[in-house]
Amino acid sequence: MQSLTNRKKVVSNKEMTWVEKLYLPAILGGMRITLKHIFSKKTTISYPEQKREFSQVYRGMHVLKRDEKGAERCTACGLCAVACPAEAITMVAAERKKGEEHLYREEKYAATYEINMLRCIFCGDCEEACPKESIFLTDRIVPADLKRGEFVYGKDKLVEPVDKPIDISKRQTPEVLEFKKNKKLTHNR
Ligand code: SF4
Ligand code: SF4
Repeated sequence: MQSLTNRKKVVSNKEMTWVEKLYLPAILGGMRITLKHIFSKKTTISYPEQKREFSQVYRGMHVLKRDEKGAERCTACGLCAVACPAEAITMVAAERKKGEEHLYREEKYAATYEINMLRCIFCGDCEEACPKESIFLTDRIVPADLKRGEFVYGKDKLVEPVDKPIDISKRQTPEVLEFKKNKKLTHNR
C-alpha cells in the first residue's frame, strides 16, 4: 500500500556491525536529543508555582451572578439546563415570598442549583442560553478532589459572595456582546 507520508522505515533484520554492537553511536544520538531539549524553549510550566495567563474568555468554573442590589439574578427558568449538552445542570425552582425581594430578583428563583463538574465540558452553552445574565463561566479552575460527590457544586459554591463579586467584565468583549445581541434578536423573531 502506498504510504501517505515519506516517514515510514522498512525494518531490517540484518546482522549488526561491531560498531553498532558497541551501542555508543545510538547512546550519543540519544544524548544529543536530550541536550537539545534541555536548552530549547520549554513548552511546559511548573504549575502551581508558575501560572499561565488565561485568555479573557477562558471557560472555567461557573459563577451565578447577583444584581447591583445583591439579589440573585437566576429565575430558575431552566434554559441553561436544556442547553447543556452534558446534562450537567439540575435545579429546583421555588416561588419568592413577600419580604424576599432583596434576596431574589425575580418572582421565581432556584432553591437548589447544581452543576456536576465531572460531566461539564465547559462549552459555555449555559452562559449563552441564560436570558437573565445570571450564569457565566470564569477564569477560575475547578479544584481537584478525591471524592466524586465533591464535584457536584451547589449554590454555596456557585453563587458569588455578596461582599466579593466575581469580575466577569473581561468576558464582555465587544464581539461577545454583539453575538449575544444577535442571538436575542434571532430568538425574538
Ligand atoms: S459549560 Fe456546557 S457542559 Fe458545562 S454546564 Fe454549561 S452547558 Fe453544561
Ligand atoms: S442560570 Fe439563567 S438560564 Fe439558568 S435557570 Fe438561571 S436564569 Fe435560567
